[in-house]
Amino acid sequence: MKKRLIIVGGVAGGSSCAVRSRRLSEEAEIILFEQGSHVSFASCGLPYYVGDIIKERDRLIVTKPSLFKKRFNIDVRLHHRVVSIESEKKEVEVEDREAGTRYRESYDELLLSPGASPLVPDIDGIDAKAIFTVKTIEDTDAIHSWIDGHNVARAAVIGGGFIGLEMAENLHERKIAVTLIEMLDQLMPQIDPEMAAVIHRHLNDQGVSLRLGNRVTGFIHNDDNTLTVVCASGARITVDMVILSIGVKPETQLARGAGCEIGESGGISVNGHMQTSVPHIWAVGDAVEVTNITTGRPALLPLAGPANRQGRLVADCIFGKPPMPEFRGVQGTFVCGIAGLTIAATGLSENQIKKMYGDSPPFSFEKIHLNPANHAEYYPGAEYMLIKLLFSPDDGKILGAQAIGGTGTEKRIDVISMAIQKGGTVYDLEQAELCYAPQYGAARDPVNIAGMIAANILRGYVGIVHWDDYPDRNVFLLDVRTRREYEAAHLENAVNINVNVLREETASLPRDRDIWVYCLSGQRSYYAARQLLQQGFMAKNMNGGYYLYGLYREMNMTGDAHDKEDLPA
Ligand code: FAD
Repeated sequence: MKKRLIIVGGVAGGSSCAVRSRRLSEEAEIILFEQGSHVSFASCGLPYYVGDIIKERDRLIVTKPSLFKKRFNIDVRLHHRVVSIESEKKEVEVEDREAGTRYRESYDELLLSPGASPLVPDIDGIDAKAIFTVKTIEDTDAIHSWIDGHNVARAAVIGGGFIGLEMAENLHERKIAVTLIEMLDQLMPQIDPEMAAVIHRHLNDQGVSLRLGNRVTGFIHNDDNTLTVVCASGARITVDMVILSIGVKPETQLARGAGCEIGESGGISVNGHMQTSVPHIWAVGDAVEVTNITTGRPALLPLAGPANRQGRLVADCIFGKPPMPEFRGVQGTFVCGIAGLTIAATGLSENQIKKMYGDSPPFSFEKIHLNPANHAEYYPGAEYMLIKLLFSPDDGKILGAQAIGGTGTEKRIDVISMAIQKGGTVYDLEQAELCYAPQYGAARDPVNIAGMIAANILRGYVGIVHWDDYPDRNVFLLDVRTRREYEAAHLENAVNINVNVLREETASLPRDRDIWVYCLSGQRSYYAARQLLQQGFMAKNMNGGYYLYGLYREMNMTGDAHDKEDLPA
């Protein structure tokens, strides 16, 4: 039977559903309503258009309405806003924003993909013209013309999530002095503080000024057209423009009006087929609540990948062959680049575990950090990355991973992400067969090494201790780096015996207490610990080595420490 599909929202989820529906049904009547001036545009490319890395505006437009019509016979109506849904009659009311008129359309199936809108706090001075959010191409046009028309030399970016970081990078790229202001003590709250410390260090090196632990309470519009950003700490930062990127909230108004259930996270409730609680209404993308498969809990995940996959899945459910496919849920896999540094993560982080369960989660987890090269070190141009892996000490199940570094960083997270989706363990990572040639990887890929380190712990070959356990005054600290490394900096009271001579120099080591062994990364100290353990010493490896210790020390010290204020719990 010929079906009439109406789609609300024409970017990631909406467009994906529209074109897949046509591929599955030549008969279907497909109408796509978009309130803005473009469909199928590259939201993810917007920051790079601001930074002039993407120079031509047209490149942001992936598919124009004319092509939707010609190639797919899809009726795209721009500047048309769906204002209400009458689910009993299976009708929507539409406002033609150019003509200023309203009309109704009936549907057999209705897909909501209205996205999420930027959060704008109700604080003093928020209406100033020099404050921008980034969501549409028009937003970036406005940013471009403000920069050009007002000789912008200083900008503040408020919010240190991925959009904030990308905007900071791109403004910096345009030689604008950027101050990045974040309410929390770290950027990128999806990852853990010691990992975020790498970003802090990198941005400081790039000359981006960080103001962590600063909650913005208002803006003062000055006579010379500048804006002063006021923070609760008392800090005041005067700039020529502000980018507000403090998060997004799901667009649920239409769905609420239609009687669709809203989940506890604030997104539209859907089942595995992306059906809302109201018959014949489906919802996808930033607006919906999804299940995080690593926590089993409802979550919001405003990312393009899930929106695209869900849009396609709904088309399959409506027009495809039975049985209807089910969305697998999400695990928060993401990547973000900032001035040459790649940050990627998947699954659980310690931050998330703490946020959900405080200090006593209902399950135990272990963590390791490693600092491998992206490819064989003998091949020119190797770049290093810091990887953190969280896993269950009971059965080795992988819980999450984070990585920060150069080329190839996100590839490792992608592999681990797939392993998590398949319920994999650290033993799977240890055995993973991955591609290798010296310019691309290593015979033991960083993913294998992560698995091997974790599996060594689980098999009882070595115990590890963490920097958050340090200092413990009852242990003997053994630094197995070279004399030169030790003299440059070392832990208080640590004794230095180079791993290469350790076999001959164990006489001075105690047998009646723990020996915590460290080197720079945790590798040499692992060799030393194995040697000592086999000689009857109670040796433990210090996870992540002295490099990680540096990050732990830095994680609360970056930015302007004087500006820190107590945050609400
Ligand atoms: P959207 O793509 O936002 O589309 C929703 C559309 O619905 C909008 O165009 C809106 O105008 C329209 N609409 C809303 N209500 C109505 C109505 N009542 N009637 C008609 N039309 C309506 N994700 C990543 O995974 N990686 C990235 O690198 C990345 N970078 C990003 C950078 C920026 C600056 C932004 C803003 C987002 C970025 N994202 C990124 C997120 C990604 O763009 C979104 O997750 C994705 O676009 C969500 O798809 P969606 O279909 O749910 O909503």
